[in-house]
Amino acid sequence: MPSTQLFDSLRDELKHLDESQVEEIRQAYLLAAEAHKTQERDTGEPYITHPVAVAKILAQLNLDKESIIAGLLHDVIEDTDIDKQTLTKQFGKQIAELVDGVSKLTQVEFTSRAEAEAENFQKMLMAMVKDVRVILVKLADRLHNMRTLEPLPYDKRSRVAKETLEIFAPIAKRLGMRHIANELEELGFICLYPFRYRVLAAATERVHGSRKQILKEIDNTFEKSLKKGALEGYRIHSRKKNLYSIYRKMCDKRTPFSEITDVYAVRIITKSLEDCYRALGIIHHTYKPMPDSFTDYIALPKMNGYQSLHTILFGPYGVPIEVQIRTEEMHEVATVGIAAHAIYKAGHRKAKHNQPQLKVNHWMKKLEDIQSNTGTSIEFAENVKIDLFPDEVYIFTPKGDIFELPSGSTVIDFAYALHTELGAHCVSAKVDRRIVPLSTKLTSGETVEIITASHATPNPAWLNFVITGKARSSIKNFLKNQREKESMVLGKRLLKEATSSLGIKLRQVPESAMESLLMSLKLDNADALFQELGLGNQAPLLVAKRIDELMSTPSDTRIPIRPMDEPPQLVIRGTEGMVVDCAECCHPIPGDPVIGELNAGQGILIHVETCDKVAKLTKIKNKCTPVRWAEDVVGEFVVPIQAEIKNRRGTLATLTAAIADSFSNIESIEVVDRQRSQIMVRLLILVKNRDHLAKIMRNARKSSSLLRITRSK
Ligand code: MN
Repeated sequence: MPSTQLFDSLRDELKHLDESQVEEIRQAYLLAAEAHKTQERDTGEPYITHPVAVAKILAQLNLDKESIIAGLLHDVIEDTDIDKQTLTKQFGKQIAELVDGVSKLTQVEFTSRAEAEAENFQKMLMAMVKDVRVILVKLADRLHNMRTLEPLPYDKRSRVAKETLEIFAPIAKRLGMRHIANELEELGFICLYPFRYRVLAAATERVHGSRKQILKEIDNTFEKSLKKGALEGYRIHSRKKNLYSIYRKMCDKRTPFSEITDVYAVRIITKSLEDCYRALGIIHHTYKPMPDSFTDYIALPKMNGYQSLHTILFGPYGVPIEVQIRTEEMHEVATVGIAAHAIYKAGHRKAKHNQPQLKVNHWMKKLEDIQSNTGTSIEFAENVKIDLFPDEVYIFTPKGDIFELPSGSTVIDFAYALHTELGAHCVSAKVDRRIVPLSTKLTSGETVEIITASHATPNPAWLNFVITGKARSSIKNFLKNQREKESMVLGKRLLKEATSSLGIKLRQVPESAMESLLMSLKLDNADALFQELGLGNQAPLLVAKRIDELMSTPSDTRIPIRPMDEPPQLVIRGTEGMVVDCAECCHPIPGDPVIGELNAGQGILIHVETCDKVAKLTKIKNKCTPVRWAEDVVGEFVVPIQAEIKNRRGTLATLTAAIADSFSNIESIEVVDRQRSQIMVRLLILVKNRDHLAKIMRNARKSSSLLRITRSK
């Protein structure tokens, strides 16, 4: 049966696992084979050949059972009837999460988005996964797809190849997986630029062919001198250069082909670290080293943990020889990167090391060990740590642009990140096409659409949840400007009222008097004075009296508008904005007799005249200012009411319906007391004025279930 054959080919790669693990993998194989049985690949082969090939790639990296099973099952959620729950039941949560993670990565649309921001995209993919094994499975998936790209139509093929070169090969490099990165690059290059590839391959072949004799001579010389130096257990092999990297070098640095390929590259793999340095000594005796060409990446590892000795020698006939010397272990790290660090390798089955995060930490620890042994900082560890446990989220605009924000950012932070104006006029937002509250925290991969209205302005409440500096400072700035504007208008009105109560018209105050007033108050101009008054930092009546003193005209020639004993009154229109506010201790509404409390720096707080606080306030000099409501106040005002209703089903609904029918909105409802026969509730409702409130209460009283309703404090 061919299916047995197929599994056997995978089994050959599972020698690092024990029997029970292999059996579990076989179960996964059977499930995948059954699930995909009616499907075919574009190559015409049964679909199951693909997941098996992916699992094989993972097995060849000596990865653990979970990764290999996830490789076998990586397409079942996406392409078959099997769901995550089924996988959880049969293979446990860890494997189900891995498969789910791979499916999610697959769903992300790359096409138009990737081009401009490939690097951000790589970061975003890393940020989206909690377990790095998801990336390893995805890389294996991509590698096999690249190996079997041929039958696809050209446009699809080239899209996949481009994505591979821009996104996946760099990710493999980030994880130190040179081997896989090289193959992905090579395959991507062949597909995208077949002609350039062939020309370059032929040219490289030619160079090699023409130098065969020299190369053989070099090899022999190395062998001889290493043997003479009594070095044991080493391997020596010539290296082929990755054609794509040659191509990139020619494009980026505009280096001529001859200069890049006119080098012989050789690698010596030794048994021990000491042998590396011994081998270096020997070959430096064999051929003359090029000055300044030696680099010790063993003492100073590269940022991806790479360790090796590099040197360039003058070979026969002046051919430069690039030599890399490293141990077997270093060689493994250099080729398979993160997969070399035993974290996901089978055989280390300590139960407590099962969580992916612990495993990554374990790997970090290993890199840190290298770091402390060598005394260099390994940025790579830092990079990967940031990628896997990111402090950023990556968010899409509806057009597919990617924005990077600190994690914990909300819709408003995103709006301000796009544009200050967008933040300033934001009224609502859609995350993945669903309307969400503006305080919603965003997660990587979401698409966020900001909805604006030209009349909308920033809300002070946003300051409670925004976390980015830009959003915070923009909102604060707006509020400050707004407050300044509003306080200026209010201050001017306050002063007008105050001076006219003394029989002085503000616009008739001579400039000289105004100037000496401003000078004595250390203010630059009249606007600054108005602001001070509006913010309650100056008492209007005192300022008016100063003006009176400074004016040369004798006071008895003026006719006061009001009798001198009647204080100036500020008319509250409801349009004053932030600088006039209603006190929450007594909730004044239009129609109530009121008094204003001057609050330094904040403006005027309106109290009901009978409020308990007022008695105390009036004792403080210049703390209060007379105010009255305008005839037609704009806006709605919060007022608390208390109602006793029968404790029966539906009575509360009747009450709230009566309030709504009277064109009022309810801000909150609270049950204060619940008896067997009756309930006492406290509501905060919005009213226009006293008449409106009276009408609401009349309406409510029509219900037989209402026992009592009163305005409360
Ligand atoms: Mn696949």
